[in-house]
Amino acid sequence: MPTLFLKKGKESSLLRRHPWIFSGAIAKVEGEVSAGSVVIVRSFAGQYLGTAAFSPSSQIRARVLSFKEGEKIDEAFFGRALRRSIARRSHLLNLPTRSACRLVYGESDGLPGLIVDRYGEYLVCQFSFVGLESWRDIIVEHLRGLVQCSGIYERSDLSARKREGLESRQGSLWGQEPPELVEINEDERVYKLSIAQGHKTGYYLDQYDNRSLLRKLSRNLEVLNCFAYTGGFGVAALQGGAKHVTNVDSSAPALHIAEQNLLANGFTHDRFSNVTANVFDLLRQYREQEKSFDLIILDPPKFAETKAQFKRAARAYKDITLQASHLIRPGGMLMTYSCSGAIDLSLFQKITADGLLDAGRSGQIVHYLHQAEDHPIGLAFPEGLYLKGLVCRLD
Ligand code: SAH
Repeated sequence: MPTLFLKKGKESSLLRRHPWIFSGAIAKVEGEVSAGSVVIVRSFAGQYLGTAAFSPSSQIRARVLSFKEGEKIDEAFFGRALRRSIARRSHLLNLPTRSACRLVYGESDGLPGLIVDRYGEYLVCQFSFVGLESWRDIIVEHLRGLVQCSGIYERSDLSARKREGLESRQGSLWGQEPPELVEINEDERVYKLSIAQGHKTGYYLDQYDNRSLLRKLSRNLEVLNCFAYTGGFGVAALQGGAKHVTNVDSSAPALHIAEQNLLANGFTHDRFSNVTANVFDLLRQYREQEKSFDLIILDPPKFAETKAQFKRAARAYKDITLQASHLIRPGGMLMTYSCSGAIDLSLFQKITADGLLDAGRSGQIVHYLHQAEDHPIGLAFPEGLYLKGLVCRLD
């Protein structure tokens, strides 16, 4: 088997079981390798560190699949890894109150670059690492055996695949093609989502717990839900007894699904309004109109894709925080999120504090939030944490 030797002193992260091997840490590769080749990883001195898959075009030149010396990377290996990953979530599966759940979350579940989400009868897979490309059929075969489903669909249409030298891919992998809108239920809410057209694999499963928290916070409140997408938070707020929710998004198709979701949950048009607008502009406009709300949600898209963009991103987060704070009534709340991996919690907290300060507001953090438990963070893989949230109460 080809062997990858690290440079002197570069083994410490692997000894801590971090799965990534950057190109700069590699001394040499012995043997023939191509995209996806399985390689043994050794320290400069020759100590076994892991068994990885090779990615010639990415800065992350290899990702470890197994830390067990002698473990074969074969069909059975993927069966074991998938079974383990699904078993970790057994308490979240097959519940009458919940039909959607992430089943596999990449590195945190020992399957680098693989995401599998379950939306009712359909599974959606996303492959973003070249090392798993040639195992796709085997992974699909195992998933069919492990989870009862009527179709498996692929949404490998993300930009990260370019870095791996991979084309974008999307389409049915097995079974029935999902209908235009699939319906799921969670915590006594129902949502329709588009597996083929939606963001990510169709929906924001990562906000599951935060939707349920919002439900508890919303009683009698007037809520402004910025970056509303298909109304995930909007439905939860009304379910919790919010007086009225204004959902804002720049995407009219997303708000069209949001409307269906609000109606499907029994909320009539007098309880919500959907506004197609740019949040940055609308918040300013609302300030001019002297509008105010009891609770504002800010859940923007990833403003920073990479560390290099983080300054621009920090400015954007601060700007919406500042603009939103002007609109929050005394005693009201701001629920704000960042899903940029490049912005960590302490920086996000600082940006939020700065935005509030510049708006002349003071307050307290009452909840620290993060992605839901089916998106776990491997102890050896802190990069798995990407979603951070704060709920602040303003004086
Ligand atoms: N809160 C949502 C997810 C938000 S995803 C949920 O929990 O389901 C981010 C959303 O922001 C997308 O729907 C995108 O259309 C919207 N968006 C991006 N930039 C925007 C802008 N400048 N103004 C308004 N909406 C924007």
